[in-house]
Amino acid sequence: MGKLVNRIEPDFLMQSYLVEVAKGVALVTRQFARNLFGRKDIVTVQYPEDRRAYTPRFRGKHLLTKRDDGDVRCVACMLCSTACPANCITIVASEHRNNDIEKFPTTFEIDLLKCIYCGFCEEACPCDAIRMDSGVHTLPTMTRRDQKAGKINLLELAKQSTAAQGGEFRAHSHAGAQHGQSSDHH
Ligand code: SF4
Ligand code: SF4
Repeated sequence: MGKLVNRIEPDFLMQSYLVEVAKGVALVTRQFARNLFGRKDIVTVQYPEDRRAYTPRFRGKHLLTKRDDGDVRCVACMLCSTACPANCITIVASEHRNNDIEKFPTTFEIDLLKCIYCGFCEEACPCDAIRMDSGVHTLPTMTRRDQKAGKINLLELAKQSTAAQGGEFRAHSHAGAQHGQSSDHH
């Protein structure tokens, strides 16, 4: 329910703004001096010099896992892109040279600007090929194009996974991890 606000009828002094401007300047000056002389209760983090540690539950952006031979695990089944509510996964499939593996992605691209980090893609994946446990924060970039995570970029992050490539768990801490973001557009 809305809250009623009683508006003050402005008098001449208030309408001249002089007193109000002086009050504003005093407030800003007080805050500036307080920040300058390093009060301990300031909540602002001086990024990028200071960085907050991520909580252990932080998972991070997507990665593509690898088989034991280093090849991409993804079999280009399109289940992740079908499940994706933001429609931000683009996969182009090709025939695999190994007859036991039907397909692999020649292009695998996630538009991180459209992604809502819901995790449906990793839930849908039948072979643990796409995971969201890199511990890497999606960084701002200068162009929209650089927010497209391509196959090479996603495979590079495989070593960040809490799973050893092949699916076994290995201990891994993401606390405080923050890594650069590169884009390869493949
Ligand atoms: S996290 Fe959600 S929105 Fe992002 S790529 Fe996966 S399914 Fe799509
Ligand atoms: S990442 Fe998984 S769900 Fe997506 S296409 Fe590859 S194998 Fe299929």
